Amino acid sequence: MHRTRVKVAEGALDANDTIARANRHDFDHAGVRVVNLMSAPGSGKTTLLERALPELDVRAGVLEGDVQGSLDSDRLAALHVPVVQLNTGAGFGGECHLDANMVRSALGELELEELDLLVIENVGNLVCPAEFRVGEDARAMVCSITEGEDKPLKYPHAFRAARLMLLTKTDLLPHVPFDAARCLALARRVNPDLELLQVSAASPGGLQPWYAWLRAQRAASLAGA
Ligand code: MG
Ligand code: ZN
Repeated sequence: MHRTRVKVAEGALDANDTIARANRHDFDHAGVRVVNLMSAPGSGKTTLLERALPELDVRAGVLEGDVQGSLDSDRLAALHVPVVQLNTGAGFGGECHLDANMVRSALGELELEELDLLVIENVGNLVCPAEFRVGEDARAMVCSITEGEDKPLKYPHAFRAARLMLLTKTDLLPHVPFDAARCLALARRVNPDLELLQVSAASPGGLQPWYAWLRAQRAASLAGA
């Protein structure tokens, strides 16, 4: 019984990877760099995008994943960037993650040829988004200091699959019992290659490292990396 269930799960992930490769082909063909942004709910993903998009001298678009509603995509659409809202509650069983097929279903709404950078804001969840490749170039994990500093040990798969970890809301460090050094060390223990950035949307210049990372993503794409 147990073995059968494992096979079903592997089959579903194989099917997902096939669609992810098709997405990847379309992204490469259009020359668009794709970042999959993942975190628990409330870590600040939408704020990171809201602040970054006007600062980047690249043509950026967003694919906004939520179970329902359009609160986040409304915030981003106000910046006059192309935003597509993907609700997993509408036809996808209210899934708590995006998979390659959901992303594929939304690509028709985006002019990929007109974009340099596409950010996929995944559904807030640290478990299953990490299981589903969607054809992205890189995954960025967001953790805020109002969460537990042992997150990397509790959700190692998410940290292992990421290229970047953003520690957000660092302006609150003097006010909360959060050991940032320990959190970053745990993240590196799980994934020694993880890039680490500490950022704050409330401090002047506090998001510059994030903007620079996104610009570097675009530059890597132009360099064919
Ligand atoms: Mg959001
Ligand atoms: Zn899920």
